[in-house]
Amino acid sequence: MRGLTISAHGGLDQIEYRTDLPKPEPRRGEIRVRVKAAALNHLDLFVVAGMPGVKITPPWILGADATGVVDAIGDLHGISDNNLKVGDSVIVNPGLSDHTCEYCQAGEHSLCVNFKLLGEHAPGTLAEYIVIPARNAREIPKHTPVEQAAAFTLSTLTAWRMVVTRARVRKTDNVLIWGIGGGVALAALEIVRTIGATSWVTSHSDEKLALARGLGAEHVINYATTTDVGKEIRARTLKRGVDVVFDTVGEASWAQSLGALGRRGRLVTCGATSGPIVQMDVRRLFWNQWDIMGSTMGNDAEFDAVTSEFHAGHLMPLVDSVFDISQGRQAFERLASGQQFGKIVVRIPD
Ligand SMILES: [Zn+2]
Repeated sequence: MRGLTISAHGGLDQIEYRTDLPKPEPRRGEIRVRVKAAALNHLDLFVVAGMPGVKITPPWILGADATGVVDAIGDLHGISDNNLKVGDSVIVNPGLSDHTCEYCQAGEHSLCVNFKLLGEHAPGTLAEYIVIPARNAREIPKHTPVEQAAAFTLSTLTAWRMVVTRARVRKTDNVLIWGIGGGVALAALEIVRTIGATSWVTSHSDEKLALARGLGAEHVINYATTTDVGKEIRARTLKRGVDVVFDTVGEASWAQSLGALGRRGRLVTCGATSGPIVQMDVRRLFWNQWDIMGSTMGNDAEFDAVTSEFHAGHLMPLVDSVFDISQGRQAFERLASGQQFGKIVVRIPD
């Protein structure tokens, strides 16, 4: 079967399109999906470069997001009640949990002590066929455009948990979202907008900020031409600051995020694309009574919630570009360039 793989860590030149990969077989609790399209996430770049403690077995299939058609079903007796049938169109939750540990039993599957991600700790989705736990698939309407279905799950699920579950954004909140144009940031903007809260977005590109305005972002800040986003927001809000910050940048944005955060503010982080080590004055933390929160992926209830939104035609992701799997490396180059506005999708045609 066809797939996009690496056999060693390094630059994007490690990415190889192959046609000789073995077709996987579903075991107990698993289904096989004929993938129609897969979408890229920043995570995939980290996998290509290599991450501490994460080992790959060559040829390693990349990718976390996917949509496709159920092609074979293993023995699901007593395991899954999602009633999937061969021929159903599905979206895939890339987060794998054991469903037995303390956190899983409490319904918090992304806190699982054995949590794994497709493409990172298990073979990825950029292949003609994938085998996944049946619990990780949800049926979607057959007529849905495959590009949007492929691009949906990881970004929307991550943003949903950040905005709805963790920060509990309300209509009266002012919300700052870093790096508009990325999948999670765009999904977060859409959810914040649906709630009716006031959005502030940043980017290094005026073009992306103009596009964000078109999507309903109320306040935009170019962080490349603004010395300090925190100070800028304080100036524009009569020193009040915002109620919520979503920071996926880490080292480069952290101080400015805290500078933007008002009293009783909530900061949620789900990424550190610029680096992981940050500083904080704890006196400001207690004096302002801030909540600093982490968030990653989502649990099964949140997967069900975003799947319902998908069925209703809500929170549809923006697709930046579409590549054929044989041109997969170019898709990764587009992702690495940082020029995209929306998701980069890879099609796996018949
Ligand atoms: Zn668990």
